[in-house]
This record gives sequence, structure tokens and C-alpha cells, in this order.
Amino acid sequence: MIDAWRVEHSHHMSPTKGGIRYSEMVNEDEVMALAALMTYKCAIVNVPFGGAKGGIKINPKNYSLAELENITRRYTVELIKKNFIGPAIDVPAPDYGSGEREMSWIADTYYTMNPGQLDAMGCVTGKPIALHGIHGRREATGRGVAIATRECLNVVEDMKGLGLEPGLKGKRVIVQGLGNVGYHSAKYLAEFGAVIVGLCEFEGAIYSANGLDLEEVVAHRKETGSILGFIKAQKEFKISAEGLEQDCDILVPAALENQITIENIGRIKAKIIAEGANGPTSPDAGKIFTNKGGIIIPDMYCNAGGVTVSYFEWLKNLYHVAFGRMHKRYEENANLNLINTMEAMTGVSLSPLQRNLVVKGASELELVNSGLEETMIRAYHEIREIRLMHPKIEDLRTAAFVGSIDKVAISYMNMGIWP
Ligand code: NAD
Repeated sequence: MIDAWRVEHSHHMSPTKGGIRYSEMVNEDEVMALAALMTYKCAIVNVPFGGAKGGIKINPKNYSLAELENITRRYTVELIKKNFIGPAIDVPAPDYGSGEREMSWIADTYYTMNPGQLDAMGCVTGKPIALHGIHGRREATGRGVAIATRECLNVVEDMKGLGLEPGLKGKRVIVQGLGNVGYHSAKYLAEFGAVIVGLCEFEGAIYSANGLDLEEVVAHRKETGSILGFIKAQKEFKISAEGLEQDCDILVPAALENQITIENIGRIKAKIIAEGANGPTSPDAGKIFTNKGGIIIPDMYCNAGGVTVSYFEWLKNLYHVAFGRMHKRYEENANLNLINTMEAMTGVSLSPLQRNLVVKGASELELVNSGLEETMIRAYHEIREIRLMHPKIEDLRTAAFVGSIDKVAISYMNMGIWP
């Protein structure tokens, strides 16, 4: 007997949307809370979905591949029987402990049970590219976390309050979790100029004030099965949670909920917490941190990059054509004609590099990344504005709640009640 849940929190928009968590710790209350968080998350980033969440109470590491497939397919059949899945009903996605492989099994089961349904592949997102997934989905949540953090650090007056120089360049970051969200958050934060000084996994944590090379650490962990013993680390901690308490500017919890609590908040040195995971900071710990002047970039906004690109994947599945396919070449030809005309008129030629930059049409990945960036930046300022406009609102989380609950309420009021 395996316990599993699917919760749909709000139908102010359809379909509902939310990941499926594979974890021994999953329970009904947690799935309900995470479904509610999805409602607010979608509203914050203007993704037109209601909130949902799923959970399967297993530790995937204790099951063979065939057993995992069986469990996933059976779970999908239960969802189909109860009308809890479908491109216009409820669209699951990956979460802690699940990924592209599980999403493929779900898509195949759904399609097999609904033969000929044209939009069937839109029943789940986070699928591999070869099975109607979208470029950029795998890294979307972490990329979104990095964009959110960069945007927060770019606001000069907010950084003055923290005593930090504006901009992400050179800022010291500790990341907890080297899974999908943690790995990609670290990767893009480093790409945007931050220095990854600490990494924490369940077996322990490592720290180096000069910075850690993420790929080297990942290769070391793959080879030895542990983050510990990485030769270039200055310090290592057998108790992983100690890694969170080291010197840094930004802490990115990207593993599980309740990692920063009243017990350890006093020892956290970061000035900014960018919540990659869902619910990593307990409410009382969050209050202490913000009262001290710290900034928490709240989960419901910070990790919304995944659902944003899931929305793009769902759109792609309904369009039945990849983004960019219809106009990339047309755009390139039009740009080329323009450049040729300008060169003929002015007698000045562009270098091959300049020509390439101007002529190039957008690929699916570029369109997805640009849509994600626009969404994250716009939403950050929307939340910040709400906080500034209401003197009683002390933190970005409350501002995010106010913004999203307003949007949900407006949807319900516009719809009315019938019959
Ligand atoms: P994942 O399974 O890919 O990775 C989680 C990682 O955390 C694993 O590497 C695991 O070993 C590590 N971990 C577990 N316990 C730990 C501990 N005590 N200390 C340090 N590391 C620990 O999961 P994920 O998809 O990256 O999800 C992580 C969090 O992000 C979850 O809270 C999830 O709900 C949230 N989230 C995920 C997505 C997504 O697109 N995957 C989107 C939004 C939010």
C-alpha cells in the first residue's frame, strides 16, 4: 500500500497546476499547504493557472526503476479515474524527488488512457525535449532564483539599508541542496557574477571563502558519493546544517522546508535569503530575520521560474509547434535585408560578429529565457511596489501575499457564482 495525494486548492483559473513530490516525509497537510502556495505563486507571476500539488509517500531510492514506473503509472491512473489530470483540468510537474523520467511515464499513461486526444501532451509539464518538453524547463527554477536575486541586489536603496554594494558581482553565496533547483541556482548565480562559497547536501557541507567550482564539486560528489572530502574546500561540516551558518551575503535554501527556524536563525550570517525551496524559512524565523533588517525573497515568487516555463511548455503543447520555428528564419532574412540595405546606403560594413549579432533570429531557448527574465523582473518590482505603498507591510512575503490574493479575489468576483 502506498499513500499518495493530489490537492487542488483554487479553481479561479483552469487548469490547476503543481508538482508531484516523491518523499517519505510527504503528508496530506503538506500537500494542501503546497497547493495553496501554487495558487499564490501562479498569481504572482501572472501564470493563468489555479494551484495544485501532488505527493507520493515513498523514498524513491528504496525502489527499483520498474517499481518506480509502476507506482507513477498507477498514481496517474488514479488521477485519471478521479478527473484530477488533463490539459484543461490539472497539470502536474516535477518537484522534490521527481523529474523528466516520471513526467514521461505520466504523459504516456495519460495518452494511452485517452487515445486520440489532440492536446494530451499538455497533461503534464517538465517532460523531456524528445517527448514534447521545452528547452529551458530543466534549469528554469534555478535560473529564476538567480534572476530574482540579481534583481533584488540591483535596487540601490534597498542595498544601502543592508550595507551592501548594489549588484550581484562578487557577492558570496551559500546554496543548500544540489538537486534541480540548488544546482541551477548556484550555476546561474555564478554566471551572473556571484561567488559560491558554500554548498550543503544531506551528507554534509563544504565552505571556501575563495569560492567553490560548482562543476568540480558535482564531479567529486558523483565519483565519491559525497560532497565531503572535496580537496579544495577550506572547511567541511559533517552536520550539514552548520554549512548554512557560515559567512556569506546570500543564502539560497533549495532543498526542503523548515531549514531556517527559530533554532538557527540567530546564527545565520547572510543578509539576504533567496528561497529556492518551498517553505524553507519558518514564519517566526522569518520575522526575526526581517526585523534585523534582512531581506527574504519569498519562495512563492523566488522559485516561480519553474511554473512560468511550465506554462510556456503547456502553451507549446497546445500550439503543437516549437516557439521560434515559424519566424526564426523569416526574422533572420528580414534583418539581413535591412543590414544589406544599410551597408549599401552608408558604404560601411559590419564585422562578421556584429552581423551575426544583429541578424540572428531567436531560438526556442532564447525566447523561453527572455520570457522568464521578463516575468521574474516585472513580478519583483510589482511585489516591491506593494511593500512600499503599504507602510504596514514589513516584508516581501506579505507584499507577495497581498498582491496574489488580490488577483485571485478579482478573478472570483469577475466570475461570480452560478447557479
Ligand atoms: P531535487 O530532488 O532535485 O533536489 C533536492 C536536493 O536536496 C537533493 O540533492 C537532496 O539530496 C538535497 N537535500 C535533501 N535534504 C537535504 C538537507 N537536509 N540538506 C541539504 N540538502 C538536502 O528537488 P528540487 O526539484 O530541486 O526541489 C527542491 C525544492 O525546490 C523543494 O522544496 C521543491 O518543492 C522546490 N521547488 C522545485 C521546483 C522544480 O522545478 N523542481 C520548482 C519550485 C520549487
